Formats: sequence, structure tokens, C-alpha cells
Amino acid sequence: MLTLLILVTSLALISIVFVTLYSRLSAVIVAVALNGLLMLISYKILYFSIPVSIIFLLPFIRKYLITVFILKLIRKKNLLPQISETEEVALNAGNVWVESEFFTGKPNFIRIIKEPYSEISDEEQRFLNNEVEELCNMVTDQQIHELQDLPHNVWEYIRKKGFFGMIIPKRYGGLEFSPIAQSKIVAKLATRSQVLSITVMVPNSLGPAELLLKYGTAKQKSYYIPRLAKGEDVPCFALTEPNAGSDAASISSYGEVFQAQDGRLKVRLNFQKRYITLGGVATLIGLAF
Ligand SMILES: Cc1cc2nc3c(=O)[nH]c(=O)nc-3n(C[C@H](O)[C@H](O)[C@H](O)COP(=O)(O)OP(=O)(O)OC[C@H]3O[C@@H](n4cnc5c(N)ncnc54)[C@H](O)[C@@H]3O)c2cc1C
Repeated sequence: MLTLLILVTSLALISIVFVTLYSRLSAVIVAVALNGLLMLISYKILYFSIPVSIIFLLPFIRKYLITVFILKLIRKKNLLPQISETEEVALNAGNVWVESEFFTGKPNFIRIIKEPYSEISDEEQRFLNNEVEELCNMVTDQQIHELQDLPHNVWEYIRKKGFFGMIIPKRYGGLEFSPIAQSKIVAKLATRSQVLSITVMVPNSLGPAELLLKYGTAKQKSYYIPRLAKGEDVPCFALTEPNAGSDAASISSYGEVFQAQDGRLKVRLNFQKRYITLGGVATLIGLAF
């Protein structure tokens, strides 16, 4: 009878531990449950387990008695990988917007609902209704699959109608569409064919156009950006490597600027890339090294 009682009580306490951990309830409840469990084994354990629980439960004690030493050890032993200044800037760029709520496990729906969402302009809506609709009607996924490419007239249409220049300002001949419009365009194309949507998406997101707009010299901007807007140049962005995918900061491609014998500055490169959209047809490559 006693054995059964202990068994049932233990199971109940284990259930409490799991429920509190899973539902992320207070750590105090977890500690009480654990101490209750230990008490069943021997009440003498409590002389040890209660002070330990208190040290771990009270943040200001935990910080000075535990965390501070762990952090010192981590720094002393150089346990964390070091990141360069450039990587730090890239990692801290932007923010996670209301989307972060979905990953909290307890989304703040009021914040999500109150967010002022962007709308598309009349011009963008017309483009969606006409050019995008027309492009969707021009090709099927099956045709692309059989051809292993987009048909020639589809490439022409994409270039002529400025699909590659959606992020490029009008002064360079681009469409200068908002991010929400681009998102709707790519989403609509994806309903027809994933290849079609990615072909349009990549030059407008990763492509060299944005890099040139932000960091290009005046000469580079006036030459390349109008060509990209009109589709005269097809861009690609080569970042991913056999050992660097999601963790883009771990790329190992290496480059060195040096002065050649004729006095000109050149770059010596050593790189291996994979999964580069439009890599086979691109005429302008953004290369991460
Ligand atoms: C359609 C398409 C187009 C692409 N175009 C380009 C392009 O134009 N240029 C370019 O440079 N690259 C391009 N890529 C490559 C893309 O950047 C990589 O596929 C992506 O970064 C993922 O890398 P990976 O495939 O090596 O997967 P990995 O990084 O090896 O990931 C494999 C799995 O592990 C998971 N994982 C990885 N890290 C973590 C983590 N820290 N925690 C938990 N889970 C993790 C991932 O979710 C995934 O399920 C393209 C990919 C696709 C699919």
C-alpha cells in the first residue's frame, strides 16, 4: 500500500514538473515539485536541495554566486566564437518586427493587430492586375519543367516590363515598387510557377542592384543600375557555399586586394559557391567573400 502511494505521488510530482516546464509556469512551482519529490527519497536531502533551489531561484543571488563565474570562465577560455566587426554590423542590422511575436510562444495579438500595415499604391495594383496577370498566363510550371528554362518570350517580357528593376528608383529607369507590392507580385507568380517567382524575386532582393545603390561609385551607378532596370544585365548574388548556408557568416571564400605590376588595384579571389539563382545566366555577379 505504502509503495503504491509513493509511486502515485512520485508520478503526480513528475507530471507537475513536466506540466510546469512545458507551460513555462513559474520556476518556483518546479522547485517545490522537485523538493517534494526528493523529500520522498529522504527528508535529509532537503537540507541541501532547499538552499540550492533558493540560490537558483533568486536572480540577484544567482547572478553573483553562479552566473558571474560562468561568464568569467567563458571569457577566459575563449569559449564563444569571435565575430568580426563587419559580421557584427550584418547580424545587428534590421529588426524582427511583429513576426517576433509568433516565436515567443505567447504572441501579443493586440500588438500584431495594432501594427500599421502598408498598402499598395494604385500604380502597383495596376501592375499586379495587368503585367503580372499577363506573365502568369504566358507559361505553366509544366512547360518550364520540360524546357528546364523559361521560354524565350517570357525572359523578354520579364526584362521589358521591368520585373528585374522593382527595387530600382525611377530615376534609373526602375519601377521603384514598395516591399509589400514586391511581396504580392512574387506571391502571385509563385501560384503559377516557383521557378518563375524565384527568377523575379532574387534580382530584387539579393541582387547587386541594392549593393550598387548603397555603396557603388557614381560611375558604377550610372552604368550598371539602368542596365539592371532594363534587364540588359542579369544579376545574381553568390553567398552560399558548401559549408555556409543558414550561417552565412561562416563563409570561407577569401579575397585580397593587391597592386598589380602595372600599378592597378586588383582582387585575388578564392571561392567556391553553390545554389546561386541565375548563376548560369547572370552577367553581373555579387560575390560574398
Ligand atoms: C530556391 C533557392 C534559391 C536560392 N538562391 C540563392 C542565391 O541566389 N544565392 C545564394 O547565395 N544562395 C541561394 N540559395 C541558398 C540558400 O541561401 C541556402 O539554401 C540557405 O541559406 C540554407 O542553407 P543550406 O541549404 O546549406 O542548409 P543548412 O544551412 O545546412 O540547413 C539545413 C537544415 O538545418 C537547419 N538549421 C540550420 N541552422 C540552424 C540553426 N542554427 N538552428 C536550427 N536549425 C538550423 C535548417 O533550417 C535546415 O533545415 C537558394 C536556395 C534556394 C532553396
